[in-house]
Amino acid sequence: MAKIRIGHGYDVHALAEGLTLRLGGVDIAHAKGCVAHSDGDVLVHALCDALLGAAALGDIGKHFPDTDPAYKGIDSLVLLREVTALLDRHGYAIGNVDTTLVLQRPKVKPLIGTMREALAGAMGIGVDDVSVKATTTERLGFAGREEGVAAHAVALIEAQ
Ligand code: MG
Repeated sequence: MAKIRIGHGYDVHALAEGLTLRLGGVDIAHAKGCVAHSDGDVLVHALCDALLGAAALGDIGKHFPDTDPAYKGIDSLVLLREVTALLDRHGYAIGNVDTTLVLQRPKVKPLIGTMREALAGAMGIGVDDVSVKATTTERLGFAGREEGVAAHAVALIEAQ
């Protein structure tokens, strides 16, 4: 039987007026966007950390340091592709992933299908193996006050 491993990822970015909001590889029309060295795609960052964690290969900050100008403004889907390739080089295939966005606004439900397709494409797996969910925090905490966005992710990988 294939050896199955699990990983978990979590990320937060602050929101600020006038920045682009990109979540799950999709640009979303909104007054605020994530403050970040990269494109600030908190969902993709949490997912990268879940995948790296499953393989015990460190975290996104180790592989793509935010002090490196090469990653300034980078499309986080490029990072997700690199993480997928890194896992492949270590003999791991991605099984399925499940993610949760935590934000008060905007409503992202209509975009979830597009996000799943973008993430699945970057990881080279089927859309059925990629789950994206979203929740508010009932206006509680930093997400509820629209000061930031959080994302959680879990991933299963299999040793080939
Ligand atoms: Mg991040």
